[in-house]
Amino acid sequence: MSDGVKLSIVVPCYNEEEVLHETTKELTNILSGLMNASKISKNSKIVFVDDGSKDKTWALISEFSDKYNCVSGVKLSRNFGHQGALLAGVTTASEDSDAVITIDADLQDDVNAIPKMVNEYLQGAEIVYGVRNNRDTDTAFKRGTAEMFYRFMGFLGVKLVPDSADYRLMSQRACKVLLSYKERNLFLRGIVPLVGFKSAKVFYARKERFAGVSKYPLRKMIKFAIDGITSFSIVPIKMIMGLGFFIVLISIVLLIYSLVQKINGNVVEGWSSLMISIWALGGVQLISISVIGEYVGKIFSEVKGRPRFTIERDIYTEKTQQENKR
Ligand code: UDP
Ligand code: MG
Repeated sequence: MSDGVKLSIVVPCYNEEEVLHETTKELTNILSGLMNASKISKNSKIVFVDDGSKDKTWALISEFSDKYNCVSGVKLSRNFGHQGALLAGVTTASEDSDAVITIDADLQDDVNAIPKMVNEYLQGAEIVYGVRNNRDTDTAFKRGTAEMFYRFMGFLGVKLVPDSADYRLMSQRACKVLLSYKERNLFLRGIVPLVGFKSAKVFYARKERFAGVSKYPLRKMIKFAIDGITSFSIVPIKMIMGLGFFIVLISIVLLIYSLVQKINGNVVEGWSSLMISIWALGGVQLISISVIGEYVGKIFSEVKGRPRFTIERDIYTEKTQQENKR
């Protein structure tokens, strides 16, 4: 039977064997604190999502699930990426939770913000964003590129909550709305603000990764940024059109100029200008085609409508069903 707000904490994990002990310890501490204060139900759960890890991650998750009442897990059939893992966790947990928090496995996000998020939820907020008040622990490169990315997204007219990542609380209702956005190319941080409802922010200091290495190498970061831009805005296509017109204009001016020179009998020494324009245009065309290709590719993958994740084992639902029977 329900005894108050049931909270689920969704934690995507990809090869996180080094941090799982500590993460489980900290999260269970926070949960039992909240339970003892009667803020949340005794059936509240941690939901680890194993995103096709190759190390002992799933073995540890099963072990902790056996040991602790409040720990459960979902195993995906392969690696679906951070956003897919988050979505799998939110889909599973929101079936039977009043509120769902998502947090990274590596303890970079301060777990002490969780009680604050719960308080905001109890006061009526349906989405509570975790916002970092420092980025000191990120490298200068990561900070710089992140800043550029947020600026560019703002320029494109996409509203993001600055310095908030995928650490947030959502009510069951907000989760259901989120899940009704069916795109395959997921960029959760862009979609969550579109959900609406009353929202709040909780500030926290972002720490170093507790152990292990980042699962977001530069390659994945670039893909993530391009996904974010192209699934929220067609401004790049419009910019290409503007660029095209601009270049055509320049070539008309050049044409008139060379005609005038010809009429005046001046020999046009055209080799270098020809070479430059051929190369410049070739470059512009290639870039343009690739931008359009990015959108066409996006349409292709949306049209196929493949599953966004596949669950192989779901200890969360197994546990919940048992508890609800009692
Ligand atoms: N992650 C995942 N699937 C992936 C890559 C990452 O589930 O394919 C998880 C990872 O285990 C972590 C979170 O996503 O819990 C964020 O990854 P990470 O901490 O490596 O990223 P960073 O903080 O360096 O941006
Ligand atoms: Mg991290």
